[in-house]
Amino acid sequence: MPGFELFGDLERKQVNDVLDNGVLMRYGFDGMRNGHWKAKELEKELENTFQVNHVQLVSSGTAAVSVALAAAGVGAGDEVIIPTFTFVASFEAVMALGAIPILVDIDDTLTINPTAVVKAITPKTKAVMIVQMCGSMGDMDALQTICTKHKLLLVEDACQAIGGTYKRKPLGSIGDLGCFSFDFVKTITCGEGGAVISNNKQYYTNSDHYSDHGHDHIGNDRGAETHPFLGYNFRISELHAAVGLAQVKRLPEFLAIQKKNFGIIRDALSQIPEVTFRTVPNGGEESCAFLNFFLPDLEIARNVSAGFKENGVDGCFHYYDNNWHYVRKWDHLKELKSLFPISEEVKEGLKYLQTKEFPQSDHYIGRNISCLIKLSWTEAQVKERASKMVEVIKASLLKL
Ligand SMILES: *Cc1c(COP(=O)(O)O)cnc(C)c1O
Repeated sequence: MPGFELFGDLERKQVNDVLDNGVLMRYGFDGMRNGHWKAKELEKELENTFQVNHVQLVSSGTAAVSVALAAAGVGAGDEVIIPTFTFVASFEAVMALGAIPILVDIDDTLTINPTAVVKAITPKTKAVMIVQMCGSMGDMDALQTICTKHKLLLVEDACQAIGGTYKRKPLGSIGDLGCFSFDFVKTITCGEGGAVISNNKQYYTNSDHYSDHGHDHIGNDRGAETHPFLGYNFRISELHAAVGLAQVKRLPEFLAIQKKNFGIIRDALSQIPEVTFRTVPNGGEESCAFLNFFLPDLEIARNVSAGFKENGVDGCFHYYDNNWHYVRKWDHLKELKSLFPISEEVKEGLKYLQTKEFPQSDHYIGRNISCLIKLSWTEAQVKERASKMVEVIKASLLKL
């Protein structure tokens, strides 16, 4: 996954353009910039990459999710359906708006299960957020049908799936709004950064204003701009955008490397009959940023995970025992450990988490191992890694 592995002269040149004129801010200072508008240029590039009409860069992927929801009018007391397997940013971004995250089960795609979504819909539901975890997707057609029928927004968090596609459409471009992260470990990185993408002009204009204190961005005198509504500061800096601009141009190269490395490891593991792979819906192409596979049960998965660590196979995660990406260990959320008071409405809305169990999600996450696919490996290293992984898995299966 991480684009930082291949930083080089292109990134350096872009950053130096910004440092040479000294304008680190994306708006204003027209006279000093020598024609350099890195954030604007990156937005244009991303419109091409993601085949959408509008892209708004922001300061992070977490900000992108908050801005996307805010732009579409999601706020206090609204329910947003999200998966149990995701990054903590999903509920953080929802709660930052005073909205209520409703966690539902995932399935063998490792993303939100459409049947579980339907069951969770209430009169308060405003949006369904699919998180395209580890480079792949859920059943987008089914989700779209549900959202259309119930008049709900479909938001895609495609932060981990840059370059993945569904029926030839880039992930992130299918729902009403899509969110990306360009943080340090994503497929293309700005250091810190994110983007909201949409074909809806109003959502875009709202994102543009909201992410910069409500500024309307009309004319070239910031002090004279009006504020049609309240906003916040989720701006990206020119330095960050410059790094992203170099990286986005290399995305095809990154994706090709990922695909090749992914293929070598997948082929090796597929020779073990007990290993199965995540389901990729018809018409879907993974970004290959991660390889995900299932083992027969939780105990074997734990043994394999430990075996990988002992044998120097790094970058593999057993999310069941991990504090970051799976509901099981989100005690701070379940116990509402907030620095500041949380509204009664949200407290009430989150009570279900104290007792709710997710056996279907446990069934998949308990048996899943997720391995990062790096860009800097040599072919020999990938092959060596693949055979070590096979050895560890076979040994763990024999222990039974
Ligand atoms: C990385 C990530 C985010 C958050 O992005 P940041 O830029 O780190 O704030 C959100 N969702 C998912 C699925 C992610 O992987």
